Amino acid sequence: MQFESDVSLGSFNTLGVMSRAEYFCRVNSDADWLAALDYAKTRSLPVTILGGGSNVVLGSALVGLVVHPVGNGIDLIEQTDGYAVVEVAAGAEWDRVVRHCNERGWFGLENLVSIPGSCGAAPVQNIGAYGVEIAQFVDSVRVLDIHARAFDTIHGQDCGFAYRESHFKGAWRDRYAIVSIRLRLSKTPSVNTRYAALAQALTRDGIDQPSPLDVLNTVAAIRASKLPDVRTMPNAGSFFKNPIVNTDYAKKLLAQHPDMPLYAVDEHRSKLAAAYLIEASGLKGYKHADCGMSDDHALVLVNPGHGSGAECLALADYVIKTVQAKFSVTLDIEPVVMGS
Ligand SMILES: Cc1cc2nc3c(=O)[nH]c(=O)nc-3n(C[C@H](O)[C@H](O)[C@H](O)COP(=O)(O)OP(=O)(O)OC[C@H]3O[C@@H](n4cnc5c(N)ncnc54)[C@H](O)[C@@H]3O)c2cc1C
Repeated sequence: MQFESDVSLGSFNTLGVMSRAEYFCRVNSDADWLAALDYAKTRSLPVTILGGGSNVVLGSALVGLVVHPVGNGIDLIEQTDGYAVVEVAAGAEWDRVVRHCNERGWFGLENLVSIPGSCGAAPVQNIGAYGVEIAQFVDSVRVLDIHARAFDTIHGQDCGFAYRESHFKGAWRDRYAIVSIRLRLSKTPSVNTRYAALAQALTRDGIDQPSPLDVLNTVAAIRASKLPDVRTMPNAGSFFKNPIVNTDYAKKLLAQHPDMPLYAVDEHRSKLAAAYLIEASGLKGYKHADCGMSDDHALVLVNPGHGSGAECLALADYVIKTVQAKFSVTLDIEPVVMGS
């Protein structure tokens, strides 16, 4: 295992920000994880974990040791006639795991296909798409306590999963490295087609009894047609979370903006579409320095000129203030800000 210094992170973040890590290593085993902690401890370096870099805004420098998981094992741990428990290493590419499980007849993850990034990061913001969240499948998460230098297992129900949130993104942010995750998947083919855009696409394609593979392929096709490709247009996916507001206030907004999408969360709260608020504030396609809001998808901040993390955040701040002034709703950014 090698430790490198002054490493460019330009190819380690999909937003295309030019950033450098003071020290950098790749980890592939328990021994590597422990060696990384020891290296950092003897030099008093803070530890930062960077997966696929698809949900981060990097500063120009990351001080300390950046640890990049690379293990990609997918192991069947247990199965019955009804379910399979699969353990995947932190470094495994999420999209590959979704397709692998579907091919083996372990179902449930199809709606989450094509989400970029690593399996270790997937529970961090409880990845979700097309009406499904990973929280529904997380049996447990194997972690390394960075300060106690000890491995532990945390059950899915104790991870604090919520909409694009978990304790790993909140109170536990600098405490745990996720080493692997266990997913409990169904061996009975069943699909979730409740998300309107998915149901419409299936109907349009004449698929009235969709299989899990039909759902996987349809979601992949919708995503490919809607989202800018990070290889040609650097971005971090949805840059803002959909805000959750009091339903009384949401209804007031709806009276003023009858075309505004609105989803009930519970008896008292409703979710608004951040993309609608941004577009209605005139910011779809808005350009700022080297970055801008996508011409095609109001929620996606693009960075074709490889602007700095600070430039991207300045644009995000402008979007937040403009939406706040028009709708009195505060948007939160979804990616994690790292470094100076
Ligand atoms: C085009 C595009 C589309 C996207 N679509 C979606 C979507 O539909 N739904 C969705 O939820 N997200 C989406 N995202 C966001 C992103 O893909 C997910 O959040 C993904 O899980 C991030 O994985 P990553 O490996 O790139 O994490 P990174 O960006 O490297 O890291 C994100 C956070 O997780 C932490 N982290 C990473 N690995 C570990 C680990 N092993 N242990 C502990 N902490 C760790 C990092 O420290 C950081 O805080 C999209 C992004 C892009 C670019």
